[in-house]
Amino acid sequence: MSDEYNIFVTESTIQGENDGPLADVTIAIKDNMSTAGVRTTCGSAMLAEYVPPYNATVVDRVLEAGATIVGKANMDEFAMGGTNETSAFGPVENPAAPGRVPGGSSGGSAAAVAAGEADLALGSDTGGSVRNPAAFCGVVGIKPTYGLVSRYGIVAYANSLEQVGPLAPTVEEAALLLDIIAGSDAHDATTNDGGDDSSYAEAADGDVEGLTIGVITDLIAGADDEVTAVFEDSLETLRTQGATITEVSLESLEHAVQAYYVIAMSEASSNLARFDGVRYGPDVETDGNWNDAFAAVREEGFGPEVKRRILLGTYALSAGYHDKYYKKAQDARAWVKQDFDEALESVDVLASPTMPVVPPKLGESLDDPLQLYLMDANTVPVNLANLPAISVPAGDVDGLPVGLQLIGPKFGEETIIRAASAVEQ
Ligand code: GLN
Repeated sequence: MSDEYNIFVTESTIQGENDGPLADVTIAIKDNMSTAGVRTTCGSAMLAEYVPPYNATVVDRVLEAGATIVGKANMDEFAMGGTNETSAFGPVENPAAPGRVPGGSSGGSAAAVAAGEADLALGSDTGGSVRNPAAFCGVVGIKPTYGLVSRYGIVAYANSLEQVGPLAPTVEEAALLLDIIAGSDAHDATTNDGGDDSSYAEAADGDVEGLTIGVITDLIAGADDEVTAVFEDSLETLRTQGATITEVSLESLEHAVQAYYVIAMSEASSNLARFDGVRYGPDVETDGNWNDAFAAVREEGFGPEVKRRILLGTYALSAGYHDKYYKKAQDARAWVKQDFDEALESVDVLASPTMPVVPPKLGESLDDPLQLYLMDANTVPVNLANLPAISVPAGDVDGLPVGLQLIGPKFGEETIIRAASAVEQ
């Protein structure tokens, strides 16, 4: 492999055990998923030498299905970012849009599929990190319902929001990979048997006759006009195949980005406290006390975006500000959930452009974190509400890929897979 796009942090083959549904299939694994004996860096200098002693459940499941892991895919540091540019191992270049970012944080996973370096890939999605790079790289990505897929062995960023999800060239292949990784796991108490009996690959039949799809008008308002035009063409494709398209408004979404970032940073500040230089982290020479050593390891091991989030998250959870920020964000989250539940009583599926913009040029976004956070406006509401969503290629703006996002009710993966496969046909 030449890896001209900087897709892999570690190129290492792990051969699956049996002949299963993924025999002869290659797969890239995001580098925040533990692989026994193969280093798992999370895109961070903090874990540059970390070699886990066990496999994440999803890794075991793809190996049991016969897949061959071809490498650990580059990612934003600790999955914090939307362009893959916060990685300590350098950015990934978008194979579908040269000179541009692949999206993030699962940028290496999406790029591996887009470049044909792997047949399939696994990513994780806390606020869009499977759907965003899927959209930017012109591939399919699924963010499952919270609890459908085990998070055991995934390095946690924000536990209440994240799920592992598949990336693939087609809806059917993404659905097949979801069949393999879905289902309850004794090692992860948040998993649920809600999807254990489903067959996602069979749902990719393109039958949308009689399906009602609600366009979330609030998520169109902030999108670029060219992106909206491509989005509307894809709705037309669904309409001609028998779907009914209506409009819905979810007022709470105005607060979703703010709520998401307060919650995600708060959870991150707590999760990342374990990187203390004792169990994990670089060896740093200090002659001071433990506090000095702790600070020195974290100063050296974490990049600027991770530090920013730990600081802001710690602030939002601190005694004087907990009610003002963290609790308020939880209230907004409850409102977002309620809005989605109500909307999904009158329509089967909700739709928006996956990303409001086309992939930015490499190096263009990092200076303005706020701009970067606002790019997540269409994806983070789904994580706040713990719902399933898929991004499917919808077309392009002058060759730059645009994704259509379809959102379903809890454990409604089959419905969004069905609708997404109609867009493909
Ligand atoms: N871009 C979002 C963030 O930085 C989402 C990241 C993710 O889903 N891991 O938090």
